[in-house]
Order: sequence, then C-alpha cells, then structure tokens
Amino acid sequence: MKRVAIIGAGAAGCFAAADIRGARVDVYESASVPMAKLAVTGGGRCNITNSFEHLRSVEEAYPRGARLMKRALKEFSPQDTLRWFTQAGVGGFVTEPDGCVFPASQDAREIVRALQRRMADGGVQLHLGKKAVSLMKADAAWRLGFADGSSAEADSVLVTVGGAPRGLPLLDGLDIPWVQCVPSLFTFTVNDPALRALMGLVVPAQLAIPGTGFRSQGQLLITDWGLSGPAVLKLSSYAARYLHDYGYNAPLSINWTALPQADVESALKEFVSDNKQKLLASSAPFSLPLRLWQYIIGLAGLRDDIRRGELGSKGFSRLVAMLTAAPSRIDGRNHFRDEFVTAGGVDLSAIDPSTMQCRLHPGLFFAGEILDIDAITGGFNLQAAWSTAHIASRNL
Ligand SMILES: Cc1cc2nc3c(=O)[nH]c(=O)nc-3n(C[C@H](O)[C@H](O)[C@H](O)COP(=O)(O)OP(=O)(O)OC[C@H]3O[C@@H](n4cnc5c(N)ncnc54)[C@H](O)[C@@H]3O)c2cc1C
Repeated sequence: MKRVAIIGAGAAGCFAAADIRGARVDVYESASVPMAKLAVTGGGRCNITNSFEHLRSVEEAYPRGARLMKRALKEFSPQDTLRWFTQAGVGGFVTEPDGCVFPASQDAREIVRALQRRMADGGVQLHLGKKAVSLMKADAAWRLGFADGSSAEADSVLVTVGGAPRGLPLLDGLDIPWVQCVPSLFTFTVNDPALRALMGLVVPAQLAIPGTGFRSQGQLLITDWGLSGPAVLKLSSYAARYLHDYGYNAPLSINWTALPQADVESALKEFVSDNKQKLLASSAPFSLPLRLWQYIIGLAGLRDDIRRGELGSKGFSRLVAMLTAAPSRIDGRNHFRDEFVTAGGVDLSAIDPSTMQCRLHPGLFFAGEILDIDAITGGFNLQAAWSTAHIASRNL
C-alpha cells in the first residue's frame, strides 16, 4: 500500500488525513495535541466556512491566492465542506446574516472530534511531538528527519505546517519559490487621544489608504489603542504587504458615514437648514453617535457653540470633508485576538492547482496556510484549508 506522510496536524493536515482513501497515512505533528488552533478558531465557535453570498468576487475574500481558490472552490465548495462534516457526524450548522457559518453546537471542538473520528476510522497513524526538520528525496522515496533524531520514509508527502512567519527551514535544499511571510488581519494603533477617547463606539464606515487603491467598508470599532472591527481587519488584509513595507505607518482616510459625498452633502444641507437656531453639536445627522459627531465638528475646526444657521459655505464644506474623508494615521499594528493569519508562503507558481503537487518535486504536496493564500475574516481561511487539502488528498 502507498505510504503517505503528512507534516502538521492542523486543519488542513487532519482534513486531508481523514479524506484520503487507499493509502497508509502517517501524520507528524510537532505539538503534543493535534488541531490546537482549530479548537480555538472563531473564538471557540469555529467559523468553519462562509456562504459566499455577500461577495462580489472571490478576490474580495482572498487578497492572495484568488485564482487558485476559484478553481479549488469549484472542486470542493462550502456546500461540500458542510456535507463532508455532516457525514462525519457534525450535528448541523448555522449561517449568520453576514454569511459566516458555524457548527450549530457553537463549539469548535465538535469539528475537531469529527476529524479525529474520521482519522481513527481510516486507520491514520498520528505521531505527536514530532517536529519535522528535514525533507529530502532518497531514491524513489521521501525521507523525513525529526528534531528528536528519528526519521521516516514515505512515497508521497503533504506539507501542511500552517503559516511560517520566519520561513521554513524544512524546505531548505528543495529550492521551492517562497513569498516572504507578513502578518495579515490585525488592528491599527492610532496615536490620537481625541479619537481614542471615543473608545467603544461602533459605526459603519469606509476606510482608505490615500494614494493607494486599498479601501474597505464595514463596521468600525474605536478602541483604547485606535481602530478595530471588520472594516479595519479587511483593510489590514488587503494592504498587508504594503503596510509591512511602510513599517505600519501610513495615512488613513475615514468616511464616517459610509455614504457617497453627494449624498452626504444633500442630507447635511437638509439637516442644517431644518432648525437654524439649534446648536450644531446638540444632535447628530446620519445616525452618528453624538460624541462622534462632536469630534467631527472639532476636526472641521468649528466652534462647539456654533448654530446650524451660522455654518457658512466654508464651514459646510469642511464638515462634509471631515464626514467623508477625515484624515487620520495608522501608527502601528496590533494583533487581533480572534483571528490572525500570515500572507505569503509557498509561491503558487510552484503548485499545480489541479493536484496541489509541487511542480518541481513529484510526490511533494502542499495545502493550507503554508501556501501563499490568505483571506479576510469570515470562515474563508478555513475553507481554503479544506479545499486545498481535499484536492491534495484526492491526488496524493
Ligand atoms: C486564534 C485564531 C482564530 C481563527 N479563527 C478562524 C475562523 O474562525 N475561521 C477561519 O476561517 N479561520 C480562522 N483562523 C485561521 C485558521 O485557523 C487558519 O487559516 C488554519 O488553521 C490554517 O490551517 P493549516 O492546517 O494550514 O495550519 P494550522 O492550523 O496552523 O496547522 C499547522 C500545524 O502544523 C504543525 N507544525 C508546524 N510546523 C511543524 C513541523 N515542522 N513539524 C510538524 N508539525 C508542524 C503546527 O503545530 C500545527 O498543528 C483563525 C486563526 C487564529 C490564530
């Protein structure tokens, strides 16, 4: 029987191991437990996939690897994922209004247990505490070396070691093209005490990095260190490499209304002419929280006791500008505590997308985050792990 070695018992490695048929499968994991990260995904609930119904394009979800993912999703779709896990004994799923899919139990460990059961049923051998440190082709077989000095042989190898921010010495000597890894999905430090004083406010907003095409839309959360929420995580993903190259220092433009400028102008005109005697700062348009509106009035350089009727055309224009393109700055990067992935990894030019096999080394396969594929939050990263692992398992 063909011998398959899988390096890394995370989401992709365990899924592939559970999915392979007709081979002897050995999974080598450096940690003392398998799938430790999977068990805490989605804040312990596991955002296992996404309905994709709110996306205009696959590129929107996958800033890197969209081309390969388009193909991989045809091969193994979110529906296939749910069918697979249902057959593996998971008791149903819920899709939230934003398209995020979770197990109905809201327990990531149910997904882990389903994979463990499937691996056990298939006779998969799981070797824990086995950190692979070398990989080479020896005659017809692949030889794996481990940190404890032991070694193993296999006919085919699937590498699923996840994100490798410091590179992957394991692949040294194989000359596999590598894209430098940088963090993605992080929140922004903003050194603006007046903004941070608004901590806790959440508004729908649009963000942009001026001078670039990077922009995002979604809920924006003001925190005690700066900015967070889906709009920030998305922008951090789209601009991951750009922000890395600029040392996480960049200008930021905030549209606090998430509306086009013309709509803001006409709604604001109506608002100020409605009750000219009223203090501008006493109630807010666009359903903005009052404290945020007062902050925006301050940004526009207007007195806090100005009346609506006193605004004038210059004051009006400044207010529109601060509502739709308030200048701010990204002063640093914070780790998002729920989800964090790396952009970069094995260059996709080295991978045959129909098999996940390395074009340079027959018998060597890759799946999951080790590939230069990463996504915004919402279950897309795990879907990439399932789809690429499935394609590999069918071809190993
Ligand atoms: C806190 C957190 C929450 C997340 N939540 C979600 C979510 O809800 N939905 C979503 O879509 N994505 C989520 N993600 C991202 C998602 O978890 C990853 O994209 C996914 O786990 C990648 O799967 P993988 O198998 O490629 O890598 P991993 O799951 O990271 O597994 C890699 C495995 O390889 C092992 N390994 C590494 N090096 C070696 C070696 N040399 N030898 C042997 N073993 C090795 C590691 O110990 C690990 O077990 C989250 C990420 C984090 C950090």
